Amino acid sequence: MSKGKPLLIIVSSPSGAGKTTLCKRLLNEFSDIRFSISHTTRVPRANEVDGRDYIFTDKDTFDKMVDDEQFVEWAHVHGNRYGTSHGEIRAAAAQGMDLIFDVDYQGARQIKSNYPDAIGVFILPPSIDELKLRLSARGTETPESLEQRFKAALGEIAHYEEFDYLLVNDEVNAAYDRLRAILQAERIRIFRNGEVARKLLE
Ligand code: 5GP
Repeated sequence: MSKGKPLLIIVSSPSGAGKTTLCKRLLNEFSDIRFSISHTTRVPRANEVDGRDYIFTDKDTFDKMVDDEQFVEWAHVHGNRYGTSHGEIRAAAAQGMDLIFDVDYQGARQIKSNYPDAIGVFILPPSIDELKLRLSARGTETPESLEQRFKAALGEIAHYEEFDYLLVNDEVNAAYDRLRAILQAERIRIFRNGEVARKLLE
């Protein structure tokens, strides 16, 4: 666990790059990391649980939350709205936990502008063919939404330079090892740990 302020880890990728699997592994291994549960106006998929994967929210409630400035960031993605509430960051800070965000590049940009110490990790599939394969293997999309997601994936990849780390998910175990290494290294950055050295010097 990081001392003091929570470490905010933003993980973005085009859909089909394996981001969810990698994030879940990190959350399973580290009990001191929380997943930031977003609000969305999208309808739940069959395997999704309200309050675990997302907080599924109707459009009027989402509008009201926007008006009440309850979101750190929110964006339109694939025709639906998604947002991260201030409450998620407050809850992590109160529990002394680090926080992982699964948001698109627009969300990453807004979180970084509000929290400049947040780190951004961008996950890439190893190739376009592999991306296509993984998108269709999901089996939850219609041909139209698949095409829409493929185009959106290319649009998302165009923003890779806004992130701090680029992680190619060529093989899941190797990619996970690199994600883990990013976490471990970020946790011991001087600016997050100055207190330890200062105490020792006193
Ligand atoms: P999906 O509908 O497949 O769960 O997610 C679609 C996209 O929305 C993904 O790229 C995911 O990272 C992004 N997303 C999920 N939650 C948020 C959020 O709170 N804010 C933003 N900006 N994007 C989000």
